Amino acid sequence: MTQARLMDGTALARRIVEDTARRAAQLTARTGVVPALATVLVGEDPASVTYVRMKRNRCREAGITSRHVALPASTSTAELVGTLRELSADPAVHGILLQHPVGDHIDERAAFEAIAPGKDVDGVTFASFATMSFGLPGFVSCTPGGIMRLLDEYAVDPAGKRAVVVGRSAILGKPVGMLLLARDATVTYCHSRTRDLSAAVREADIVVAAVGRPRLLRGQDIKPGAVVIDAGYNAGNVGDVDFDSAVERASLITPVPGGVGPMTIATLLEQTVTAAEAAAGGLQAA
Ligand code: NAP
Repeated sequence: MTQARLMDGTALARRIVEDTARRAAQLTARTGVVPALATVLVGEDPASVTYVRMKRNRCREAGITSRHVALPASTSTAELVGTLRELSADPAVHGILLQHPVGDHIDERAAFEAIAPGKDVDGVTFASFATMSFGLPGFVSCTPGGIMRLLDEYAVDPAGKRAVVVGRSAILGKPVGMLLLARDATVTYCHSRTRDLSAAVREADIVVAAVGRPRLLRGQDIKPGAVVIDAGYNAGNVGDVDFDSAVERASLITPVPGGVGPMTIATLLEQTVTAAEAAAGGLQAA
C-alpha cells in the first residue's frame, strides 16, 4: 500500500519566516519602525514559559522586537486587563500575545477582549473571530491559520469536501472549522459528547485532530485517501493521530512534530509584521 505524503510544516514555516523577515527589514528601512510584539505571561507554568521563549526567539530571527511582560500568578483580572489596555494604547507595540492559559481565577475572555483588534495578532478576540468567520480581512487564530496555509501549500482545496474537526476549543477546533467553512467545505465538529467518533471521522476527506489525547484517531478511522491534519501535541512528542497506521491510509498527513506546530509561530510573526505595516501606513497617511 502506498504511504501518505508528509506535509512539511517546518519547511513551509521557514519560508514564511524568511519572507516575514524581509518584510520587517523593508518596513524598518522605509519608515524606521521596528515591528514589536508584546508577550504577556501570567504565572510560571513551565510549558507556557517554554512556548513564550520559543516565540520570542523566533521574533528575533524575523526582525521583530519582543517586549515581555511577566506577571505573577496572583494577578487579578482587573490588573491583567489594565496591562493589556496599556499595551493596546502604546504606539510602540504592534502585536499582543497573551499566553493561554492564564489561571482559573482570571476571566480569560475579559482579558482577551482588552486587546485592541488591530494588535490581536494571535486572533483571540471576538472581533477577530467574527472577521475570520465571515472570510473578511483580519487576524486569524494562529494554529488554524497555519493549518489553512499547509492545506494551500499542498493544493488541498476544501471546497465541496467533507471536513471533520475533532475538538471545538475557541483557539483551535472552532476557528479551524469556520475557516474550512469559509472555503466551502462541509464541516462537522466532533467533541467529547460525540457518539461514534470513528464513524464520523471515516466520512472525512479532510480530518483535523485538535483534541489533546495521544493517538485517539487510528488508521482504521481514516477514509482511504483522506488528508489528515494532526494539531495535537501530547507528552512524548505524540499527536492525536496514530501516525504509523494513519500514514498507510491517508494521502497527505502532518507529522508530529514538524507539521502544524511550526506553522503556528510563523503565522504569529507574519501577522505581527502585517500589524506593524498597517500602523506605519496609518502614520504616513496622517
Ligand atoms: P482543549 O481546549 O482541551 O480542547 C479539546 C477539545 O477536544 C474539546 O473540544 C473536547 O471536547 C475535545 N475532546 C476531548 N476528548 C475527546 C474525545 N475523547 N473525543 C472527541 N473529542 C474530545 O484543547 P486545545 O487547546 O484545542 O488543544 C488541542 C490539542 O492541540 C492539544 O494537544 C494541544 O497541545 C494542541 N495544540 C497545538 C498547537 C500547536 O501550535 N501545534 C496549538 C494549540 C493547541 P469538549 O468541548 O466536549 O470538552
